[in-house]
Amino acid sequence: MSAKLSIQNLSFTYPDGTQALKNINLDIQPHELFVLMGPSRSGKSTLLRLMNRLSDLVDGCERDGTIVFDGQDLFAPDVDVFALRRRVSMVFAIPTPLPGSIYENLTYGLRMAGIRTPAVLDERVERSLRQAALWDEVKDRLGDSAFALSGGQKQRLCLARSLALEPEVILLDNPTSGLDPISTSLVEESLFELKQQYTVIMVPHSVQQASRVADRVAFLLDGSVIEVGDESQIFVYPEDQRTEDYVTGRFG
Ligand code: ADP
Ligand code: MG
Repeated sequence: MSAKLSIQNLSFTYPDGTQALKNINLDIQPHELFVLMGPSRSGKSTLLRLMNRLSDLVDGCERDGTIVFDGQDLFAPDVDVFALRRRVSMVFAIPTPLPGSIYENLTYGLRMAGIRTPAVLDERVERSLRQAALWDEVKDRLGDSAFALSGGQKQRLCLARSLALEPEVILLDNPTSGLDPISTSLVEESLFELKQQYTVIMVPHSVQQASRVADRVAFLLDGSVIEVGDESQIFVYPEDQRTEDYVTGRFG
């Protein structure tokens, strides 16, 4: 099987000289739920942002190595970054609905992409809300303002908004931060549904969440990958002492 994303000798330094990533090598397979785990400032968000080139927004940074997406170098000069970000979609930790109704939030991107047929829009709205485990709660009030939703519902709305555009890879940076336990478990349930259709790369809220949702895990420390393996290897039989210390709660 060829990797969906292949991270090759990737290093990244911020303009102030902080080296956030040090020679990262990782292959992420289609339809897996891949977790980037590690203490804060270990480089997880930086790595996630490189995967859809949000890192381009940092002036004066330095990158070495590359990421190959479906066989294509993400950083090649001819890559259309906007098209890339539709295929590799970031869902932010702090949900930011657009002004307007729930329905308008979900169809805005589709309309921008030229899709206007009501039946097609309706179908995409329903499917993406179902995949984000929000459909049952909002199906009777799609015309209501998105701002009236609870925090947990807004988070799932923003996930659904990304899904409506049918990306191939979904990047989730701590998608359950600030959510109550019920919303958290709804988001976690929806992750199992999502990987049927998408490749999901996620920074978890906690070690416990990582062990619940991950197929494979990379443990990062200070910008380096310490260990990568199946969920059972990382949490039950870690090979590196630092991984063991982290998953057993000795630091982080
Ligand atoms: P994590 O998501 O694991 O907490 P980050 O990727 O946010 O880690 O940060 C990795 C390192 O890069 C940290 O040392 C952090 O201080 C630094 N860093 C992150 N963003 C910036 C930035 N915009 N400018 C300078 N340094 C940054
Ligand atoms: Mg982060």
